[in-house]
Amino acid sequence: MQAGARVRHRSKPEWGVGLVLDDAAQGKCRIQFEHRGVVMLSLEVVGNNLEVLSPDEVAAHEAATMQRQPHQKRVKTGASRCAHCRQQLNKSLYSADRAWKSCPLCSKVNGVEHVFYEYPNAFGTSDARISDEAPDGAQSYCITCRPRIRQEPTARSRACSVVISP
Ligand SMILES: [Zn+2]
Ligand SMILES: [Zn+2]
Repeated sequence: MQAGARVRHRSKPEWGVGLVLDDAAQGKCRIQFEHRGVVMLSLEVVGNNLEVLSPDEVAAHEAATMQRQPHQKRVKTGASRCAHCRQQLNKSLYSADRAWKSCPLCSKVNGVEHVFYEYPNAFGTSDARISDEAPDGAQSYCITCRPRIRQEPTARSRACSVVISP
């Protein structure tokens, strides 16, 4: 086992590929696994569970990781969609009369449906926020979600299925 080698833990496939950080001194070495972080392993204990990847396998793994990344990023930034209207949860939606707006963060936390609040009261406005999407300068996140303001969640919320007609 040499520093720089790529390994896999046979009984911990969920850890992903590990990078050996030290030459194995005194039968121990530190390995940084993709999904687990740095782990100190005793080679005696881990024994045959550690599989050293061949250069071909390393190249194949790196190619796969590069292809996967843009997709993973999309998932992280909220590709999850509303069970009711099928639009992204982190998107601001307005009711037809613009009296209600969804909070992207509350909706993401809810994870199922958009969460709407009275607009613009539950959001607050600022001139700096005026844009095509928010002509009133309303804040994107509701007051409860904006940590600098720190208010009790007094706003009444409504579910997407109440506000948006199918
Ligand atoms: Zn929705
Ligand atoms: Zn919110």
